[in-house]
Amino acid sequence: MSNLKFCQGPECHTYNTQDRLKGIKGSKTYQTRRRSSLHYGEFCDNRCYNDWFVKYGTMAVDHFGRLTEVKHLTEENAWTKTYDWRASADESHRHYFLNTITKEQRPLTEAQYDDRSYTINTGE
Ligand SMILES: [Zn+2]
Repeated sequence: MSNLKFCQGPECHTYNTQDRLKGIKGSKTYQTRRRSSLHYGEFCDNRCYNDWFVKYGTMAVDHFGRLTEVKHLTEENAWTKTYDWRASADESHRHYFLNTITKEQRPLTEAQYDDRSYTINTGE
């Protein structure tokens, strides 16, 4: 039983790399790559990822829902985390929320900065 997954790139087998060339002399073929771990869970490299998107991207967007109107990022949700670099070793960086629309700043602890789930954005 192999745990290897197949690269989903539609052209993967057409790229002439030594690792894709398999089989015995006289019946060698270039083959789709197999890996235990793949980019985005599906592709051996960015070229195969891009090949898939070029071939299937429009169909995927149509299937999962096409954006048909402008989306808005409001002031309430325009907070990003940032920090000012401090030059001296005894000073720590100053972490803060920055509202990218109003330019308002609000203090932030380093722990809050590092907590990826911590936000003051309201969400909609
Ligand atoms: Zn591939």
